[in-house]
Amino acid sequence: MKYVVIGNGVAGVSAIQVLSKEKPSNSTVLQFTDEPFPGFYNRPKIPAFIEKNEMTIEDTIAYNLDWYKKLDVDLHIQEKVEKINFEMNEVLSNKAAYPFDRLLIATGGDCWCPPIEGRHLKHFYSVRSLNDALEIRKRFKISKKAIIIGGGVLGLEIANAATNQGQNTTVIEFFPHLLPRQLDEEGGNILKRILEKRGITIHVNKEVQRVIGEEEVQAVITKDGVEISTDIVMVCTGIKPRVDLGRDFLEINRGIIVNDYLETSQEDIFAAGDCAEHNGIVYGLIPPSIQQARIAAHNMINMDTRYKGSKISSTLKVTDLFLSSFGYTGKESELGYGVRKYINEEEYVKLFIHNDKIKAAIILGVKKAIPTIKTIFTEEKSVSDHETKIKEVLPELS
Ligand SMILES: Cc1cc2nc3c(=O)[nH]c(=O)nc-3n(C[C@H](O)[C@H](O)[C@H](O)COP(=O)(O)OP(=O)(O)OC[C@H]3O[C@@H](n4cnc5c(N)ncnc54)[C@H](O)[C@@H]3O)c2cc1C
Repeated sequence: MKYVVIGNGVAGVSAIQVLSKEKPSNSTVLQFTDEPFPGFYNRPKIPAFIEKNEMTIEDTIAYNLDWYKKLDVDLHIQEKVEKINFEMNEVLSNKAAYPFDRLLIATGGDCWCPPIEGRHLKHFYSVRSLNDALEIRKRFKISKKAIIIGGGVLGLEIANAATNQGQNTTVIEFFPHLLPRQLDEEGGNILKRILEKRGITIHVNKEVQRVIGEEEVQAVITKDGVEISTDIVMVCTGIKPRVDLGRDFLEINRGIIVNDYLETSQEDIFAAGDCAEHNGIVYGLIPPSIQQARIAAHNMINMDTRYKGSKISSTLKVTDLFLSSFGYTGKESELGYGVRKYINEEEYVKLFIHNDKIKAAIILGVKKAIPTIKTIFTEEKSVSDHETKIKEVLPELS
């Protein structure tokens, strides 16, 4: 059997681990990446890489080329798959054609950027890859003022990195509060105050319309006519799944549509990670990418395991700021859940409870509560059975 994996992100490497262990003898695993780095690097290390000039590319590499050799995986670096020939079951790269029996598309995503006029200007960056990080770090050696478009988890981590690199940093968020996917307005406002105390300027409810400059970015103009000058703009406004290889042949919505076996609309072709859409969801997160890739790889060999969706959680990685959210933390009225809450100047906790289970949670500022609540949430434990533990870490909870 010839197994081929397109992509060497967390989905790609999770898949090859399973393939190399479970594949029948005499089969091969071939993997492609269009990136130039010698191995696999973790994207969550990118903000730290931007922040710390002493951090090298090697520091970000979690698996080097020897690791692939040991797994007996033939990794082709800097070789972009240009096309899949769906009739002949082969992938065509910029160098050659390779046949496959089973294929995994794990092409991830690109940054999604709103249609901002002037985004072609120099020093307007998206933040997705180590290459982007190298460019940004280089620019920080000269720039003094930085603007981040998007106040989600990534935007705030990059804002923190920029501030620690001595940049006068401004975050511009379209929604009425920060972390619109993880927080409600009360939580968002507390977080805003904390970050402002650290020297980051934050505008919410503001839309960037244009970026202006001769050749390089000089300022952004918001829809309500405010001009903010800058030396660099970084956009962190979400992802656009990389689905082009499947266009015209596979069912595609936002991502490549997969069934519970992680199989696409074409037999023997699977998809996982940020490029895949399961039950209408493109997760854009690491744990679901790993779960999907492992199941997809297993099913490429033995079609017997179903994916049931993933529980989501996010953590903001900013020094001495502890913020995690679990599940879909929308307005409680929309979810119809009971709410237990606790709030003070720099702390905010909100548990969404239904049928004695934590369905979602926001924990800001109370570090010791995060592991306990995470376990009760992920393992779907009964809240009443764990009341003592909850009170231990959150004594002031209503
Ligand atoms: C800066 C940053 C920080 C993040 N931090 C977190 C975090 O803390 N927690 C969390 O859960 N998630 C985080 N995420 C999201 C997380 O990184 C993604 O969900 C995850 O990387 C998805 O993995 P993937 O393998 O599907 O895609 P990717 O990581 O995007 O990998 C896909 C790979 O395929 C390659 N590729 C694409 N097309 C081709 C082609 N045609 N030929 C060859 N190669 C190709 C791409 O170049 C890329 O290397 C972060 C993302 C970013 C950008």
